[in-house]
Amino acid sequence: MAKHIGDLPHAITNGKELAVRLAGKTPAVFLDYDGTLTPIVDRPEDAIISESMRDAVRGLATRCPVCVVSGRDRPVVQELMGLDNLIVAGSHGFDIWSPTGGSIEKEHGGEFATLLEDVNKQLHAVMDPIEGALVEPKKTSVAAHYRLVAEDERPKVKAIVDQILAAHPDHLKVTPGKMVYEIQPKIDWDKGKAVLYLLEALKLDRDDVMPMYFGDDITDEHAFAALEGRGIGVFVGHADDPEVGGRTTYADFILHTMEEVEQFMDGLAR
Ligand SMILES: [Mg+2]
Repeated sequence: MAKHIGDLPHAITNGKELAVRLAGKTPAVFLDYDGTLTPIVDRPEDAIISESMRDAVRGLATRCPVCVVSGRDRPVVQELMGLDNLIVAGSHGFDIWSPTGGSIEKEHGGEFATLLEDVNKQLHAVMDPIEGALVEPKKTSVAAHYRLVAEDERPKVKAIVDQILAAHPDHLKVTPGKMVYEIQPKIDWDKGKAVLYLLEALKLDRDDVMPMYFGDDITDEHAFAALEGRGIGVFVGHADDPEVGGRTTYADFILHTMEEVEQFMDGLAR
């Protein structure tokens, strides 16, 4: 059931409640990257993970399976993380690498490559003249960033995104994020399906494993919902953040800051 973000119990303050659910099980930890392990920044390439956060993830990964699930391309996430004991799922879970199993590439719409290239071109044509607008082509999506765009110019970005979607209603969809529109092929796939797929692919779909998912954005809600009743979802953020607004969530707990995420992971590793 969806809850108000402001009503979520805190994962550290209400640690006992969480410990009860974890009792006797090995956690399998799924982590979003941007906004969860790193602060949201104006330019995606500036989202650098802190040394202490990297240490916390590294430490936890020696104790239990840890997987970073990101909309970014997998090699980019691997480079940003700089850890070799980590499972990394890029492109919203399409492209997975694990230290034990190597590369698992999920079969998907390679046939969408041309369409995405076309989307990339159309976005560039309209967005390049807009100051601060940023087009980020990825392997399985194209992101239109408008965080640095002046307020009165933002409707132009929305208009071109709407126009592109209207031209391909059967083949494209958009997932809005924090000051970004992510245009993706319309395939039945999201972070929730990715997490369930990962649990199976990594043989973690077992009674003695408790999946935990940490995320901050709208795309993470799919993962929280997928784990409802069988795992633990931890929302990272504040109910009073204007970008979070009055959103409801399928997460079970909340952590307010990256520092708390780090602290929580350190605790879990002990
Ligand atoms: Mg995020």
